[in-house]
Amino acid sequence: MLLAKSTWSEIEAFLTRSTTVVVPIGSNEQHGPTGLLGTDWMCPEIIAHEAQKDRDDLLVAPTFNIGMAQHHLGFPGTISLRPTTFIAAIGDWCRSLAGHGFTKIYFLNGHGGNVATIEAAFSELYAEASFSQRPRGFAAKLKNWWDLEGVNGLAMVQFPSGHGSHATPSEIAVTQWAYPDAIKIAKYDPPVAPTGPIREAADFRKRFPDGRMGSDPAQATPEKGGALVKLAAEKLLKDVRAFSEEAAP
Ligand SMILES: [Zn+2]
Repeated sequence: MLLAKSTWSEIEAFLTRSTTVVVPIGSNEQHGPTGLLGTDWMCPEIIAHEAQKDRDDLLVAPTFNIGMAQHHLGFPGTISLRPTTFIAAIGDWCRSLAGHGFTKIYFLNGHGGNVATIEAAFSELYAEASFSQRPRGFAAKLKNWWDLEGVNGLAMVQFPSGHGSHATPSEIAVTQWAYPDAIKIAKYDPPVAPTGPIREAADFRKRFPDGRMGSDPAQATPEKGGALVKLAAEKLLKDVRAFSEEAAP
């Protein structure tokens, strides 16, 4: 069930059955010569939308599609929030949903650069409860889609070398499966990109001239992407169920 395609009365009725909601969250940022700018928000959205198909007990909120990507701003098309803005926005998404009675807010993330800020946003929310000595009323959870049970293992079987950490063949395969009309071709030079530290945008572009980090996206295929989505969607349902069953905050 997609929140964006529901009415308020359908959400009110849903809340009598479940108080859990899944929020795909990612980033709009460069993904090398062939990766789509939306890759990091598309992957969790594709997986969450696949998981809710034919199920009215899994509610998926609109995708939070801009994240913390300051280091990619040297590449056109990247849009970033600074960490403080991102923390404030995540807080208001959670406060909005919790105000309607959602007690479990599950963020399915598609961008490693978001992790520290999302966790800080959760700590800010919990701190509001702790300082006022009142229960927060909801719990938030962060899960990267590749950390769903078995998913990274499958990616390592599919791409034993040249997986890398940015513009990876696994994430590009997922978008190829969902958006075959948007598959791009380029010659990668070198075939496997360099690795190194992440700092500010100008330094990033100097170290990683075509935007990739340690990856060889030429190995991506829609079929491999489809296998990743199928497994991830199945394990997402399992993980969300376990989160729903945790004691209410
Ligand atoms: Zn990515």
